[in-house]
Amino acid sequence: MTDRKIALITGGSRGIGLSTALRLAEAGCDIIINDICDAEKAQPALDKIKAKGVNAYFYSFDVSNDEQVQKNVDKMIADHGKIDVLINNAGITKDGLFVRMDADQWERVIKINLSSAYYVTHAVIKHMMKARSGSIVSMSSVVGVHGNAGQANYSASKAGLIGLTKTLAKEFGSRNIRVNAVAPGFIQTDMTKDLANTDDYMKFIPLKRMGTPEDVAEVVKFLALDATYVTGQVLEVSGGLII
Ligand code: NAD
Repeated sequence: MTDRKIALITGGSRGIGLSTALRLAEAGCDIIINDICDAEKAQPALDKIKAKGVNAYFYSFDVSNDEQVQKNVDKMIADHGKIDVLINNAGITKDGLFVRMDADQWERVIKINLSSAYYVTHAVIKHMMKARSGSIVSMSSVVGVHGNAGQANYSASKAGLIGLTKTLAKEFGSRNIRVNAVAPGFIQTDMTKDLANTDDYMKFIPLKRMGTPEDVAEVVKFLALDATYVTGQVLEVSGGLII
């Protein structure tokens, strides 16, 4: 078993997940990234992480499939002995006005963004309990705090992550496991590349720019590793966005 902390980042092959993996690697963690893509597609991400001088591993599975999650977390523990840090990051959008939102559109987003955090955390936390140590950060969103027209499914999933975060902070604090969430605003990634009229958003963002994945990664790293007396909190990383 390595002396370094091991961090698992779901949806870690690109975007905010990859930036978080790189930032945690710079801080000296060995890194496990998960994604739904195949190993070939994740290889560039692994190479970038390894270039930081740490070990990096990739596990391909769908975080919304409980059976796949269990099997892969068991394999991670068999392969590496522990998971010290968990970043519940994988997520999708399937936007639409509520009246036209069908049940499949609702359920897919809830399953991939929210139920996945239950599956992965449930599989990982028993090992953190045994170790009497651990840190979990989930990727919520400002729309989970404030709501957003056209994103009933997404904002409900992100609000659910906040409830999960606060409850787990209360249940697991006595085991020395901290549980926090980050709520990003508009961040430049594949998820937001097709957004129209981003200039319109600027009047609501005091810092007058979209965020970068690195802006978010810095805060995730702070909550995951440095903020040793912080639990149950939701930190907005939004340039001061007022919805
Ligand atoms: P992204 O689309 O670039 O990255 C999401 C990653 O999750 C991808 O690598 C994707 O393959 C992976 N993924 C999707 N479904 C999966 C599944 N079922 N199993 C495993 N992996 C899966 O988007 P991003 O902007 O980097 O988003 C990362 C997180 O940040 C998401 O939870 C998103 O909701 C949240 N977020 C993003 C923004 C933003 O403005 N970009 C704002 C607030 C919150």
